[in-house]
Amino acid sequence: MPIHQDLIDADAQKVIRRLVHANHQAYLVGGCVRDLLLERTPKDFDIATSATPQEIKTLFRNCRIIGRRFRLAHIFFGSKIIETATFRANPREAEGDDGDGDESADLLIRRDNVFGSAEEDARRRDFTMNGLFYDLEADQVIDYVGGLGDLVTRTVRTIGDADIRFREDPVRILRAIKFAARLDFQIEESAWRAITTHRGEIPKCAPPRVLEEIYRLLRGGAARRSMELLRDTGILELLMPGLSRLVLAEGGQTQAARWWWKALDRIDAGHAGKTPTNAVLLCAVIGPFVGAEAFRDDDGLRNVDEVIEDRARPLLDGMRVSRRDSERARHMLLAQRRIAPSTRRRGRPNALVRRDYFREALDVYRLLAPVFDPSIAPDEEIARFSHTAQEAEREEPSVEGEEPMQRRRRRRGGRKRRAAGGGGNGGAPPPPIAAQSE
Ligand code: ATP
Ligand code: MG
Repeated sequence: MPIHQDLIDADAQKVIRRLVHANHQAYLVGGCVRDLLLERTPKDFDIATSATPQEIKTLFRNCRIIGRRFRLAHIFFGSKIIETATFRANPREAEGDDGDGDESADLLIRRDNVFGSAEEDARRRDFTMNGLFYDLEADQVIDYVGGLGDLVTRTVRTIGDADIRFREDPVRILRAIKFAARLDFQIEESAWRAITTHRGEIPKCAPPRVLEEIYRLLRGGAARRSMELLRDTGILELLMPGLSRLVLAEGGQTQAARWWWKALDRIDAGHAGKTPTNAVLLCAVIGPFVGAEAFRDDDGLRNVDEVIEDRARPLLDGMRVSRRDSERARHMLLAQRRIAPSTRRRGRPNALVRRDYFREALDVYRLLAPVFDPSIAPDEEIARFSHTAQEAEREEPSVEGEEPMQRRRRRRGGRKRRAAGGGGNGGAPPPPIAAQSE
């Protein structure tokens, strides 16, 4: 499995060369090495080094040290950040806890701040495919954990005992599912068993971390496969009980459940935009159970807004999503009927196009309207609204008090913009409106 060096970000190469020149060890590590070996384009390039954060800082002017407990370096190249972290060890093992002994002992890792060797750094990582280093100068993959073999056999395998590793950090359970789904890998048998044994510990983790992984499952191009795995492991029921009941009702054969799977297929096909926002994803997973009425301009129904809210709210509440995302999703669902074709326009389109969630509402329409009615070609409506939006922009370039709300996303370990336009919607300006082709 060769690595094509021309696929490695030039700035990441610069960082490694400078560290090595100053007599430190420095390697590419983690997801980027895995993706390069699988001939996929890495989302970002992370570096692991023997240099301490202070030593890194003396070498790079464009460097900021972040993190209170475990300090790591962000090296800036324009808006791109190359994350450079000092080798660290598994804090539990560093304290001499081998994980044996008391079955009920709490293994949850709450601190993560012990420096270590390159090998320790590889071993503290979650899965063998994520524990590989790449030595740029030697053009060599360094494999302390058997990751190369598992890449060949396409296996998700924990580094070390699966029971211990999932109990240390139950979010790893969702990560296992993410990689299996996204890369089309098998989850190794003992890991699968450990997942079903310890899935109940996922709620011990901070809700924003769990939610972020769920959004990544939906956003990674394998939403359907991810949800199938969540269903098969019993995690869907655990994390989204209300939604799970609806998905599984009547042997999973209800009309709404069929819509749901279709919506997931459409996310995977890119109809929700390249990197759908959290609120768009929420609409996608609850929309099919809110019903077709939300997506057509239908005069027959009274109090449609109330009906939509009554159906949407318990589903959103059950998912422990942030109030901000949930409110936004609710507004966006309510906007759908105003986007749908109509002979009598409800309200001024201007009012809708001026909402800060307008573009995302269009993404939801593009994604979901054809799920309910395959004869709908959403591009037409979207083009019409895009035109209205541009007109409105020309008429009143900036309306006070209606500035688009800053999109923010909480991240563990501080804000991090990523190379090569990584996933998510944090901080990026909204894309220009364009009617996407089907
Ligand atoms: P992606 O392509 O989704 O970014 P990734 O493997 O790069 O996948 P990140 O979340 O960016 O995933 O994490 C970078 C690396 O940090 C991982 O490859 C893994 O080595 C390590 N890592 C991340 N989360 C954990 C965790 N919960 N436990 C142990 N190691 C982790
Ligand atoms: Mg990554």
